[in-house]
Amino acid sequence: TSNASNRIIARTERFGAHNYRPLPIVVSKAEGVWVEDPEGNRYMDMLSAYSALNHGHRHPRIIEALKAQADRVTLTSRAFHNDRLGEFYEKLSALTGKSMILPMNTGAEAVETALKAVRRWAYGVKGVPENQAEIIVCEGNFHGRTITVTSFSSSDEYKAGFGPFTPGFRIIPYGDIEALRAAITPHTAALLAEPIQGEAGIVIPPDGYLREAAELCRSRQVLFVADEIQTGFGRTGRRFACDWEGVVPDMYILGKALGGGVFPISAVAADEAVLGLFEPGSHGSTFGGNPLGCAVAIAALDVLEDEGLIKRSEERGNYFIGLLRSIGSPVIKDIRGRGLFIGVELNGEARPYCEKLMKLGILCKETHATTIRFAPPLTIATGQLDWAFERIKLLFAPD
Ligand code: PLP
Repeated sequence: TSNASNRIIARTERFGAHNYRPLPIVVSKAEGVWVEDPEGNRYMDMLSAYSALNHGHRHPRIIEALKAQADRVTLTSRAFHNDRLGEFYEKLSALTGKSMILPMNTGAEAVETALKAVRRWAYGVKGVPENQAEIIVCEGNFHGRTITVTSFSSSDEYKAGFGPFTPGFRIIPYGDIEALRAAITPHTAALLAEPIQGEAGIVIPPDGYLREAAELCRSRQVLFVADEIQTGFGRTGRRFACDWEGVVPDMYILGKALGGGVFPISAVAADEAVLGLFEPGSHGSTFGGNPLGCAVAIAALDVLEDEGLIKRSEERGNYFIGLLRSIGSPVIKDIRGRGLFIGVELNGEARPYCEKLMKLGILCKETHATTIRFAPPLTIATGQLDWAFERIKLLFAPD
């Protein structure tokens, strides 16, 4: 049938590179947890743009901040100061407890920034011989799509045909403290890890791992860098997922929800001992720290606090996991999560289930082939979770 959605999809597929395989649904309007296609069908968004929409679609206060800033100044570049950047720094510094912030735009750029920072620190502070710094990463990691970040992926799908790769990385099993101990050498600059692996399928490390890893790093003069791009800002029911173990990493890498679902804004937060090593000219980004992004991020951080979204994520996450666990189907292998960051691992492919859920009015996406990820906006109401559950359980009902 040639409705608007089909025409839009055909045009998109015809002119675009095929580096994604989206579900066949076109979103043309959205508000809160709901999205709508051109035919007027409504769906509940349970992916939240990979956790970039923690505040829900078009949160009124964030849109208001965007519009107000758009009427004043949007871009200066860092050749000049703008009147929102300092305010953004101060707010993010207060939230992270770190004394310095370096702003970028996308997650992958913030990861690149972190890698540059820890290499500088290794040479300038730790005394690693030039060009010999090593960075330890974990199997199953996902930190973005640049060549360097792809260099240390353990997934062939992400790497095929993109070599030669950047050297200086070492991959160890995730959640294995002994592997970390064995991998650290006098040349190790940092451990870079996700406190919960998102793209790997909502993989939560064993209890105590983050704490032991952070302690081990400290004792061996290695920086512990937490990629909280997907797990940060309340997604897991804590400010950051590291908070689950009371761990304060040397560096936070932040993105996604920092932009309130409106604008790409990312950042690295660390103390001066590390971020102080960048001097003028050593790093930058034309759009990084732009006043429009800063205004949006300031509003996003305010909303997070004023609406108690972190606590809501924990409470509603527990509630929803409870509902999911009551299903008890042989198709379900495991249900795990923290806050509203939930994975339902199946005994087979998850994609057909996501397609069926779409027909039932729920949008979500498989992660790592066999896991359905449920990560709705943190603003979701309990009644809306009930609505979703009524449909999800139909998937697993015996015929
Ligand atoms: N790091 C983590 C943990 C992520 O989940 C992602 C995106 O999914 C990234 C980095 C990359 O972010 P971006 O797509 O904004 O470059």
